[in-house]
Amino acid sequence: MKKKICILYTGGTIGMVPTENGYAPKKGYFYDAIASIRDLKEPGMPEWEMLEFDPLLDSSNIAVKQWNQIGRAIQEHYHEYDGFVVLHGTDTMAYTASALSFMLEGLDKPVILTGSQIPLCQLRSDAGDNLITSVFIAGQGQVREVCLYFGGRLLRGNRSTKSSADGLIAFASPNYPPLAEAGIDIKYNYDVIKRPAESTGFRLSEFSQVSIGVLKVFPGIQFRLFESIMTESLKGIVLETFGAGNIPGYDDALLPIIRKAFDNGTIVTVCSQCQQGTVKLGAYATSSALTRAGAVSGYNMTTEAAVAKLYYLFSQGLSRDRIKELMEENLRGELTR
Ligand code: ASP
Repeated sequence: MKKKICILYTGGTIGMVPTENGYAPKKGYFYDAIASIRDLKEPGMPEWEMLEFDPLLDSSNIAVKQWNQIGRAIQEHYHEYDGFVVLHGTDTMAYTASALSFMLEGLDKPVILTGSQIPLCQLRSDAGDNLITSVFIAGQGQVREVCLYFGGRLLRGNRSTKSSADGLIAFASPNYPPLAEAGIDIKYNYDVIKRPAESTGFRLSEFSQVSIGVLKVFPGIQFRLFESIMTESLKGIVLETFGAGNIPGYDDALLPIIRKAFDNGTIVTVCSQCQQGTVKLGAYATSSALTRAGAVSGYNMTTEAAVAKLYYLFSQGLSRDRIKELMEENLRGELTR
């Protein structure tokens, strides 16, 4: 039997058309545009159907509400299709891929996010290959996790990050190898593909609106300016530190703030500003105090994955100590310790 794939079109450059204010999505236009792509009708391709979101989005406008909407669309149609291709803007695609990887519990079907840097309707567009190959890979069903296909590579969704604003290879997965590479053949890297969860059944865990913040440390940063927001307003903070998890210690300002934030139930997760490598708290004196103050290590998680994981864990209504523990555990292949 032919596999059947659901294409969820949420917006993004892939389906945009030029307007007097620049590129924007256009309601009701994209189905006909992709239905005329010859490769999508070839006998070697799975069958597909497309669901269009309303409103269509520039992905810069994606937030928790829209993540839940995508999750619900997958949940609603989960048993009708063999896999899902989510067409999405590139700007926040790595965030959405990370969010879906946590939301879709017990997933055992492919969910592939893709999009393009040049709209399908424009000369030299990368939309055709990204769409065709994503549908093809989803139909093959070898990778049953949330992933992102772009520029010839299939990446684990929660390991991906947008690395180029204008290149056609726009995404990187600096701390995890590609799950597959699309050359003449699709070469799967079976050693690094996640085995689907033991059949606990598929379940959607929607996110709640949680106050999350990302703070990037820089030379000269005056932590005191951030004290009230860190200790009173935010529930989860991703601290982007130098190198392996180092922070400036010049005025001893940050640690008491982290301690106070922690006592108020806020989780501070330490990630690195370096794309590649891992946080090792305690490797230097400038980082060991972070652990003592109650911060947790994000190891080699991307900021995108750390943000999504904080939303996910806080949405589960867990205790602060349990969230702290789980932040350091590998839940969906998002980190290596
Ligand atoms: N601003 C667009 C979006 O993220 C960019 C893109 O799709 O490449 O929706």
